[in-house]
Amino acid sequence: MAGIYIHIPFCRQACHYCNFHFSTSLAYKNELVTALLNETALQKDYLADEPVETIYFGGGTPSLLEIADFRLQIEKIKQTFHVASDAEITLEANPDDITGEKLAGWKEIGINRLSIGVQSFFEEDLVWMNRAHNAQQATDNLQLAIKQFDNITLDLIYGYPLLTDEKWKQNVKQVMALNIPHVSCYALTVEPKTPLQKMIREHKKEEVNPERQAEQFILLMNWMKEVGYEHYEISNFSKPGFRSRHNSSYWSIGPGGQGKKYLGLGPSAHSFNGSSRQWNVANNNKYIAALRNNELPFEKEILTPTQQLNEYIMTSLRTMEGVNLKKVSEAAGFELKAASRKFIDSGKLVLKDESLILTNEGKLLADGIAAALFF
Ligand code: SF4
Repeated sequence: MAGIYIHIPFCRQACHYCNFHFSTSLAYKNELVTALLNETALQKDYLADEPVETIYFGGGTPSLLEIADFRLQIEKIKQTFHVASDAEITLEANPDDITGEKLAGWKEIGINRLSIGVQSFFEEDLVWMNRAHNAQQATDNLQLAIKQFDNITLDLIYGYPLLTDEKWKQNVKQVMALNIPHVSCYALTVEPKTPLQKMIREHKKEEVNPERQAEQFILLMNWMKEVGYEHYEISNFSKPGFRSRHNSSYWSIGPGGQGKKYLGLGPSAHSFNGSSRQWNVANNNKYIAALRNNELPFEKEILTPTQQLNEYIMTSLRTMEGVNLKKVSEAAGFELKAASRKFIDSGKLVLKDESLILTNEGKLLADGIAAALFF
């Protein structure tokens, strides 16, 4: 089984915290769509005939594209690869792009899952983030989306200075009240070279407080558990049956390079085929120019067995299933338990059914614990 990710590198305006690859000029949108179709054809052998069970339009802001653009891309993927009849096809949409007409169009061309970038339901928070949508659009257009799509996920951000615990609770409660089946919640990170980093440096915005972030993450875990969401990956919560099939394939990488292959199309998109990883140039003009010459603009890294194993530890530790020790010992030839002992003793990991699983306390330190377990 395999997945395909398509990166749409355009946004209406730049959110101050964002370090993804995107352009706020749509001048070359049509050329980009043509280049994507060409890249799809040139990459026809990448997935080695494995059935494609997920397709994901991410970005950027894919909802800026026309229905006709998606139709062409989905048709091209179906002509080029074996797409499963029940494939999950996700579209990331920003609230300001959602209309009844667009929703009907997305549904008609086969989109069956929406990922909506709400981030907060409070106007002052959205202004602080420099989001393109306002609070009214977040609420109203989410209601519209619910009428047409069952499978919806929302993104929320926590841990920024404006977000009190009471506001955080109201954001999360709104998701619950609408019975949204999947939520991704991210602590605000101050990424290098972002407007947010510059504003903090120039004292125009308050610094982010990691302790407050940890407190809000703990509150979140408790609230979600109370109402029956599965905390199946550190940043992801779902009602039964609504896990993201696409993202789950990223987290299913096995220690010996097993796991689902995925092909990334578009500028900055990453691909993985079990033994190597590659990433496209993060520049729209260079990407379009290369595809015009039928060239694939990527760099590639062959993963050593140790890198594959560490990647498995890092991704699986973030999931509720944890790190399977049998898989590690089969791949590495020795046990991981010694390295994990101090985390078990301090209550950050538990050993259950031969798997190492993070406790809530451990989830606050997931990256550091993964690094300590690396080979
Ligand atoms: S809409 Fe998404 S990709 Fe675009 S700037 Fe904002 S966070 Fe980044």
